[in-house]
Amino acid sequence: MLKLQSLGQQPVRLGNDDVKERLTALAAQYPDAARLQVIGQSVWGEDLYALVVGDADAPHALMVQGGIHAREYATAELVLAQAQDLLEQNAAGASYGGRRISDLLGAVNVWFLPLLNPDGALLCQQGLSAAPAAERDTLLERNNGIDDFTRWKANAVGVDLNANFDALWRVNPDVSLPFGNGYAGPEPFSEPETQAVKDLVEQHDFMTMLCYHSAGEVIYWYFGQQDDDRQRDLALAEGLAQQNGYRVVQAGREITSVAGSKDWFVQQYGRPGFTVELFAMSAVPVTQDVLRDAVERNLGAVVYLLDEAASRATGQ
Ligand SMILES: [Zn+2]
Repeated sequence: MLKLQSLGQQPVRLGNDDVKERLTALAAQYPDAARLQVIGQSVWGEDLYALVVGDADAPHALMVQGGIHAREYATAELVLAQAQDLLEQNAAGASYGGRRISDLLGAVNVWFLPLLNPDGALLCQQGLSAAPAAERDTLLERNNGIDDFTRWKANAVGVDLNANFDALWRVNPDVSLPFGNGYAGPEPFSEPETQAVKDLVEQHDFMTMLCYHSAGEVIYWYFGQQDDDRQRDLALAEGLAQQNGYRVVQAGREITSVAGSKDWFVQQYGRPGFTVELFAMSAVPVTQDVLRDAVERNLGAVVYLLDEAASRATGQ
């Protein structure tokens, strides 16, 4: 099991360069099992990185994503830790549920997308100095004139990426213009970051989508599923909750959020998708100790969902 160093009360800080460096190191350390891939670019031209773990030509896939909301960039640390842990377990010849992880990865490879909103993460951590000079006035306006961007959620042009997917998409009547959070964009998939996710999903046979957000320690799974799909997805959410101790939002009667990536995936493909909100609500900013606790509680989620996805994909 991955060992994590305690770094105490320091806030987690992480940018796209760190993501690139650490994924590159993993790909170099495990050349037979992992490869780095760029799936698109952000508004400011940052590469969107993925690490693909498992057989490159596996017939099916699992997606694990983090950092789509700017201020939730600490979720990227969990996705990085999960990628490392899966690679270590695979290299050690570990098994899960009686099957070798290497066999599971032959059927279903895992796409780790740690930081889908690198511009927003930078803006949150560095403020306006991160932005091109010509855009600073506009960004300030979209942040209510406040020179503190630590609560910013959107991408660099004020679109909430997790409200920009084509699943009951609408422009929230309260937020009809670009803003720090809550603006769904001029149309579904208007942003390069969401378009990159859409393109990727359309190119591979994703069985499951796992999306990390913060905060609240809850698991969202519902987007209108019925009958067998509903039973399957609720059971999987409860399986995740057994590991991390979070609350499963039962929903099931009404849809509580719209136009997120998991919402679109569930609606479009009829397959399970999860939004997992890490950390307690009060954990702002996220410290290294808070992160370590979340990593310990969520490290097993990937192998759990990988095993289920492989079973569902192969009928075994
Ligand atoms: Zn979020």
